[in-house]
Amino acid sequence: MEVDRQTLRHIRFPNVWSLGDAAATTNSKSGGALRKQTKVLAKNLVAARKGKPLRAKYNGYSVCPFTVSRDTVVFAEFDDRYWPMPTIPRVPTWNESKLSWVVDRDIFPQVYWNLILKGRA
Ligand SMILES: Cc1cc2nc3c(=O)[nH]c(=O)nc-3n(C[C@H](O)[C@H](O)[C@H](O)COP(=O)(O)OP(=O)(O)OC[C@H]3O[C@@H](n4cnc5c(N)ncnc54)[C@H](O)[C@@H]3O)c2cc1C
Repeated sequence: MEVDRQTLRHIRFPNVWSLGDAAATTNSKSGGALRKQTKVLAKNLVAARKGKPLRAKYNGYSVCPFTVSRDTVVFAEFDDRYWPMPTIPRVPTWNESKLSWVVDRDIFPQVYWNLILKGRA
């Protein structure tokens, strides 16, 4: 779907919006990217309906947990030019770590089902 990569509104048809894997944005496609896009699209849709400018901008964030051994993960968060974009500043989650493995295996499923899917995170 042809959309502005920041506002997520269709370039030619202003009543059409898109996000996630189907949107022609420049980011790497992921559920983590979709989570950020959802907030931007919702804010911009509300603004558009009120005739206000679209101030929310999606910044190209994406995330991918790479399992690199039996008990370590590289938790890569990056923008659409592959520059690191850590959620927690100064925490180098792009390094291989056991903690990231524990978080990915035990904590993220809880966050996903109990917070993200309920719109709380
Ligand atoms: C193996 C794998 C592992 C992944 N791991 C991660 C991860 O660890 N972390 C992460 O953040 N992201 C991960 N992703 C990416 C993530 O799953 C996707 O980016 C995300 O699901 C995209 O969501 P979406 O709603 O845009 O599309 P989808 O989840 O693909 O949803 C689209 C839906 O539309 C339905 N559909 C299609 N055509 C039609 C039609 N004609 N009519 C009605 N319905 C239709 C489909 O059945 C589907 O349910 C992974 C992807 C894969 C394949």
